Amino acid sequence: MEKQQYIDRAEHVLYKTYNRFPVVFDHGNGVHLYDTDGQEYLDFGAGIAVMGLGYGNQELNDAVKAQVDKLLHISNLFYNEPAIEAGERLLKASEMDKVFFTNSGTEAIEGALKIAKRYAYNKGMAPDYEIIAMKHSFHGRSLGALSVTGNDHYQEPFAPLIPNIRFAEFNNLDSVKALFSEKTCAVLMETIQGEGGIYPATEEFIRGVRQLCDEHDALLMLDEIQCGMARSGSMFAWQGYGVKPDVMTVAKALGNGVPIGAFLACGKAATAMVPGDHGTTYGGNPLVCASAAKVLELFEKLDIVGHVQEIGAYLWEKLDELMARHEGVIVGHRGKGLIQGLEFACPVGPVVTNALLEQKLVLISAGAKIIRFVPPLVIEKADVDEMVKRLETALQMAE
Ligand SMILES: *Cc1c(COP(=O)(O)O)cnc(C)c1O
Repeated sequence: MEKQQYIDRAEHVLYKTYNRFPVVFDHGNGVHLYDTDGQEYLDFGAGIAVMGLGYGNQELNDAVKAQVDKLLHISNLFYNEPAIEAGERLLKASEMDKVFFTNSGTEAIEGALKIAKRYAYNKGMAPDYEIIAMKHSFHGRSLGALSVTGNDHYQEPFAPLIPNIRFAEFNNLDSVKALFSEKTCAVLMETIQGEGGIYPATEEFIRGVRQLCDEHDALLMLDEIQCGMARSGSMFAWQGYGVKPDVMTVAKALGNGVPIGAFLACGKAATAMVPGDHGTTYGGNPLVCASAAKVLELFEKLDIVGHVQEIGAYLWEKLDELMARHEGVIVGHRGKGLIQGLEFACPVGPVVTNALLEQKLVLISAGAKIIRFVPPLVIEKADVDEMVKRLETALQMAE
């Protein structure tokens, strides 16, 4: 079938909340994607930081297929082995005490917010307690997650949202301090802001927030949905800062394409909710947990953390060189490991489109002026070289 026919059919049926690029992907292999016309693309977007192990990992595919033939679903009224296996591996990697599996990142955030509320309720706090979140954050699209997403543009059409959310400036400890009071029950933030433009927390900031939470018996809740799962060069980005959250959320790369998320808690936060407080029909079912368990096993076996440190440093060097060659056009470079961003002086839309359509390079933006590099974590140096070459051509075409 012709590409345009697919696009026409899609636009006929799919609720239009996205402006999609005119490409219909069909299959993938390693760090490459193939469209329905058989063209090959180099992928530096990983389905928005999801495909950590790349496409078509045989061991992972075999594990998922075996589970398909065994048992897809049973509900949380019973136990299942893949959930135990995935849970044990996730707790070991994170040093947290308890895990709850969800179907998405947004739902993991909902769970974290419910822990914060339950924690406040258990302490007997008045119902006007507050949660501090960050400006330019992103936590998801449900009404709860949207309430803590510091973006007026996303929030405005859906107001009123959850009350008593206070927004501080990310990486500005004084602004957090100024919002703290006896009403504060939790602080929620991404360890590295993703959608907001790839801003890693500074060590001073994250340690300071941890200390403020300790002083006020408030929960530190870190959103690791995008920056977690080895992407920053630590299994979870907070592990690179020497602080530990009370609650954290993961999703994206956890299932390598199979929809699964989780919220994890430790200490008092791990027992704040009790039976009856929270639930999910699909969450943690055998199919998705078989994938997550195998993903976690493969991350360890392949030393993905070590690989990200090595390739992340190489990507850093190459993007710095690219920036130097395009002074005034590329004006900033931020990130850690394999979550990096280049800030441009002008909107990056034309460059991203050229890269995709002319250079067969999949890149995604984060805000209007930032190109975000979140490739499969298994990329090699040669892939970085090839990406820079194609990006530079796309850049010259757009100038
Ligand atoms: C993607 C993302 C979410 C939302 O996850 P979904 O799986 O899309 O619901 C939440 N927080 C961060 C930091 C994200 O990057």
